[in-house]
Amino acid sequence: MADFYAVLGVPRDASDDDIKKSYRRLAMQWHPDRNGGAKEAEEKFKTITEAYDVLRDPQKRAAFDRYGEAGLRGGGQQQYEHVDLSDALNTFMRDFGGFGDLFGGQAGGRRSGPRAGADVKLPLPLTLAEVATGVEKTVVLKVLEACDKCEGSGAESGTKPQTCNTCGGAGEVRRAQRSFFGQFVSVAPCPTCAGEGVVVSSPCKKCRGEGRARAERTLKVQVPAGVATGQYMTLRGSGNVGPRGGTRGDVLVVFEVEDDERFERDGEDLFCEALVTYSQLVFGADIRVPGVLGDLSLRVPAGTQSGTVFQLRGRGLPRVNATGTGDLHVKVQLWTPQAVEGEEASVIERLGALQGQAPPQREKGFWSKMKEALGA
Ligand SMILES: [Zn+2]
Ligand SMILES: [Zn+2]
Repeated sequence: MADFYAVLGVPRDASDDDIKKSYRRLAMQWHPDRNGGAKEAEEKFKTITEAYDVLRDPQKRAAFDRYGEAGLRGGGQQQYEHVDLSDALNTFMRDFGGFGDLFGGQAGGRRSGPRAGADVKLPLPLTLAEVATGVEKTVVLKVLEACDKCEGSGAESGTKPQTCNTCGGAGEVRRAQRSFFGQFVSVAPCPTCAGEGVVVSSPCKKCRGEGRARAERTLKVQVPAGVATGQYMTLRGSGNVGPRGGTRGDVLVVFEVEDDERFERDGEDLFCEALVTYSQLVFGADIRVPGVLGDLSLRVPAGTQSGTVFQLRGRGLPRVNATGTGDLHVKVQLWTPQAVEGEEASVIERLGALQGQAPPQREKGFWSKMKEALGA
């Protein structure tokens, strides 16, 4: 019996975060895309994903803690099955966004029968304000739908697809091959029916036997708050239908957050600058600063140095799929007028005469810190 804790190398009282981290590290190591599809890597990847899938779910984890693996099967309440490779890949993509070529070929063994449709990649532009609140978007997608004439079978009306003679409907063929090391058997998709198990002898005229046609599909996408460019979510079973009755592929919604020139973003934290006048720094002032969802007020205390950074707690972006919100860091910068004249010029001239030279740095300056760092 598998000990899922040992599989992930975490103690039994590991936090959700520990479990996630450990899984992620192992998954990056054993992901089939990183191991050239090696069989042991696939097996390892499935095993760790299965463990992760149980331990990340509080209900399944509790059942496993009490009864072990048997606790996951019994009851019939929560159907538990060993994951296959595509489930495992989907779990990893769902929680970690995968890496590298998301939209490359499908990994793992092909099953016989109707082939599943291809995934559809859907770029979804978002504003920073939409990221802050989360948003429901309605999108229109070009996909392949089942042909209405033949209802997806690919066969002309009045006819039916026939069981393939080459493979007898199994969709795969076995070949015994002799080699220097002896005889071995290989299994390959049937060349006649391409693994589908059936052949269409009189194809539907509308779809030429393909069983599907181009169409538009309207989808609602619930975008969670806090997402970033490059992250994506998988809408399982919303993509193209497969040829001749194949199931639908997925839609991968890829987020593209538009640049907002007012802010720099680092995860859930935002950074911005606010210009202030000299008198505002000297006497203090309430100033307006940009916030994602509208301007905010910031109290600049009297005697503030230019370059000071103020932290507005909870005014950043929400953490994606977690609780808590980041901060907004506002750097106040002294605004220097480019040209002054008249009274403004004379007041500043007078001020210059009164102040003379700025005092030497009171705090430890750049050079002394640098010397300290160098151990001088
Ligand atoms: Zn058709
Ligand atoms: Zn066949």
